[in-house]
Amino acid sequence: MADKLSAVKGMNDIAPPVSAHWEWLEDTLRRLMQRYGYRNVRTPIVEHTALFVRGLGEVTDIVEKEMYSFEDRLNGEHLTLRPENTAGVVRAALEHNLLYDGGKRLYYMGPMFRHERPQRGRYRQFHQVGAEALGFVGPDVDAELVVLACDLWRELGLEGIELEINSLGQPAERQAHRQALITHLELHADVLDEDAKRRLHSNPLRILDTKNPAMQAVVNAAPHLMDFLGAESLAHFTRFRELLDAHGVAYRINPRLVRGMDYYNLSVFEFVTTQLGSQGTVCAGGRYDGLFEQVGGKPAPAVGWALGMERILELLKEQGKLPEQPAPDAYAVVPDAASVGQVMPVLRALRQQGIAVQMHAGNADGMGSMKSQFKKADASGARFALIFGSDELAQGRVAVKPLRGPRPEDGDAGAAAQTLQPLDDLAAWVEILRSR
Ligand code: ATP
Ligand code: MG
Repeated sequence: MADKLSAVKGMNDIAPPVSAHWEWLEDTLRRLMQRYGYRNVRTPIVEHTALFVRGLGEVTDIVEKEMYSFEDRLNGEHLTLRPENTAGVVRAALEHNLLYDGGKRLYYMGPMFRHERPQRGRYRQFHQVGAEALGFVGPDVDAELVVLACDLWRELGLEGIELEINSLGQPAERQAHRQALITHLELHADVLDEDAKRRLHSNPLRILDTKNPAMQAVVNAAPHLMDFLGAESLAHFTRFRELLDAHGVAYRINPRLVRGMDYYNLSVFEFVTTQLGSQGTVCAGGRYDGLFEQVGGKPAPAVGWALGMERILELLKEQGKLPEQPAPDAYAVVPDAASVGQVMPVLRALRQQGIAVQMHAGNADGMGSMKSQFKKADASGARFALIFGSDELAQGRVAVKPLRGPRPEDGDAGAAAQTLQPLDDLAAWVEILRSR
């Protein structure tokens, strides 16, 4: 036998019953996006490497060490499996002039790829949902996006997700802060780790993001970007906060919140939980007014967020909020293999009426005993069994037996009993199958 093949490390298969949780999450998201006026956008999984190098910035974790980049063997193009989708959406908006008649609210859902060390809540292929409001200066849409996420937690029944916000100001303000920051860090060069030393002059802001305990004191004492913001940036931030307050959305200002990507300015925010260990950020985003220009387009303001679907599902599990498995309305018990040709078209007609019905499938020995068929019917979670016995079929009838709730066998007077229904009058029993 040939060697068994397995999936690539850090890339997961999603099969039943877990796939039902994904579908439920996706459905919930789509409904919510629709209500807020965000429309679906789908971009390719592969982009030119230059898009991410230019879009995310050369000195970011993603571009430095996490991208799956390769050379197309046939034409030598430098390509990358998308590590995130904001750059792709902006490229698409520019390429198709999506902002020709004003701002656009867009959302996407799909797999992203980063070569990281796989662990709980961190995978190499993972899935993000993103919402992007393109062409709006804010801060109203900034607040709208935050509130949209809050409504998602509410819709999913999630609790204990906290919001942190900050303002990154504008490039000139960041430049002034950057000088002060470098000066401060240079004064404490002895405690900086290798990563920090390397970033001291290329991306010192990112040093504030460090998880190294030895550097916490120095980082805590570093000058705050907030103190370098001018009147306009401060006004944007204040209005953003007022709008969150108007919704009763609670938040904490975290002056060290800087985000991994270079393209952010003004509002930045993260939704975090303490229930997922060290991978506690479930949703993150902010304003990125500079990105359109950075990828070669006419400047346009924009703001958005991305959430990690695996982390949301993990949190749903943690909080016992995952939905029950979907079950069919009915399970068709077919005692005699010879009846299958008569039964299948009836089941098809039921499905065309919107009834979910699963047929007992035969094996080489026939259909199996009634007992084993009822066991399967029970396991399917169906609320009814449809019993297509040969005698009943000969009389043009089918037995409809409730499988859930109180049973007449147990002496419950309120229990629904098994009834015989006319095969050729679907409407009569579709009504029963639809009842809860
Ligand atoms: P982290 O600090 O956890 O690495 P990040 O800043 O790299 O996160 P973003 O690029 O902002 O993350 O992505 C948005 C969200 O996508 C994250 O908040 C997280 O929920 C999710 N995410 C990011 N990387 C991964 C991954 N490798 N596996 C699973 N989810 C991820
Ligand atoms: Mg990361």
